[in-house]
Amino acid sequence: MATESTRVLIAGAGPVGMVCALALNRRGIPVTVFESEPAPVKDQRAATIHPSTLEMLDDLGVTEKIRADSLLSSTYRFHDRPTGEVVAEFDLGRLGNELRFPYVLQYEQYKLTAAIAAEYANGSDFDVRFSHTLTGLTETANGVEVEYTSPAGTERMPSTYVVGCDGGRSTVRKLAGIEFEGFTYPERFIKIATSFDLKTVRPELSLRNYFSDPHEWANVFKVRGESPEGLWRVILPIGADEDDATALSPARVEQRLQKFLPKAGSYHVEYRDVYGVNQRVAATFRKGRILLAGDSAHVNNPIGGMGMNGGIHDAINLTEKLTKVIAGEAGDELLDLYSRQRRHAAVNYVQAQTIANKRLLEERDPEVRRQKFSELRRTAENHDTARAYMRRAALFDSLQDAAAIT
Ligand SMILES: Cc1cc2nc3c(=O)[nH]c(=O)nc-3n(C[C@H](O)[C@H](O)[C@H](O)COP(=O)(O)OP(=O)(O)OC[C@H]3O[C@@H](n4cnc5c(N)ncnc54)[C@H](O)[C@@H]3O)c2cc1C
Repeated sequence: MATESTRVLIAGAGPVGMVCALALNRRGIPVTVFESEPAPVKDQRAATIHPSTLEMLDDLGVTEKIRADSLLSSTYRFHDRPTGEVVAEFDLGRLGNELRFPYVLQYEQYKLTAAIAAEYANGSDFDVRFSHTLTGLTETANGVEVEYTSPAGTERMPSTYVVGCDGGRSTVRKLAGIEFEGFTYPERFIKIATSFDLKTVRPELSLRNYFSDPHEWANVFKVRGESPEGLWRVILPIGADEDDATALSPARVEQRLQKFLPKAGSYHVEYRDVYGVNQRVAATFRKGRILLAGDSAHVNNPIGGMGMNGGIHDAINLTEKLTKVIAGEAGDELLDLYSRQRRHAAVNYVQAQTIANKRLLEERDPEVRRQKFSELRRTAENHDTARAYMRRAALFDSLQDAAAIT
């Protein structure tokens, strides 16, 4: 089956494109990945890999390789920021008898892409080309002709299928004329990483924390960074009236951190970024021989850490089906099933959960906050409800529910 006529072109060497490439390659399909950046991008967005995704990466031989360089986190906590109270704690360790990995790995997405590229990429069957930007698509009788620009100029290349893993602003999605339905929040989020150990000012921190606050909610996570001491990341909302330059200025970053986590002396900030936040899902994940996976197909707010995880789930689902279609074991209508299943998971789980997560953190009505907190507390205290909550948050339910769609 591994002939040039079965080569799949993947646009984008982000985490979803690289996992998709690896999974297809393992099934004997030659792949070429085009990445417009000149080298692997040090993208400091996703860091949480959920247990469901760890199982998929384990099937590809990746989980064991990355575990030693990750932070292993089984618990996460919800805090009431104004009172300082820990409202609820969930512990994946309680699901140790049913999960292959009863924890998340905190492992930055750029390390995941680099780990796959370094270990598996080569010049032929797994061909990753940087400084290559997909610019055009023409469907032919047996495939798709891809137009791209590279340092050598503008060229064309044949492929059997194209998978757009080229992020939220996907060229592939736009060239295919697929709508990206949803909305954009008026506020943006700022992410600040500090090497200061936040547990010295907040001993009640777990490695993953959600702070509810009617005025300024927050997420606080620990990542490994480049040293064993690790880094703490703080995510906060910024108003539509504040421009990026002001929000990112050292003085404003310091002011924000001190307001939330006051301490003597100033913070050492490793990096900071501002993100626009969207909730959008593509109208379809398949149009002919053009397929979408990851952020090109769906984007969401990062509260709950679901975007990359859902994208990797797309890649695995798609790989199983595309391999059968290319081998002639199934008709190409199987790719419509991919679209239906993964679109269902994106809309009914990732979108629904991330929107609910944001609402919980920013709720302003004191009575509704009280109700939501007591519900969360009750959920966490009872084994069965805590189990159900954690399985949903770790996206196991989305996989089960999507698999039932025919
Ligand atoms: C602050 C923050 C924290 C987050 N944390 C988490 C988390 O903990 N867990 C989680 O699951 N998700 C998280 N996310 C979401 C996660 O970062 C994204 O869902 C993830 O990066 C999507 O991966 P992707 O491979 O689909 O797209 P991307 O990572 O965006 O990669 C797309 C790639 O395509 C390339 N490209 C674009 N156009 C072209 C073209 N025409 N030709 C060739 N290449 C092209 C780009 O250069 C890029 O490298 C977070 C997001 C933010 C903002």
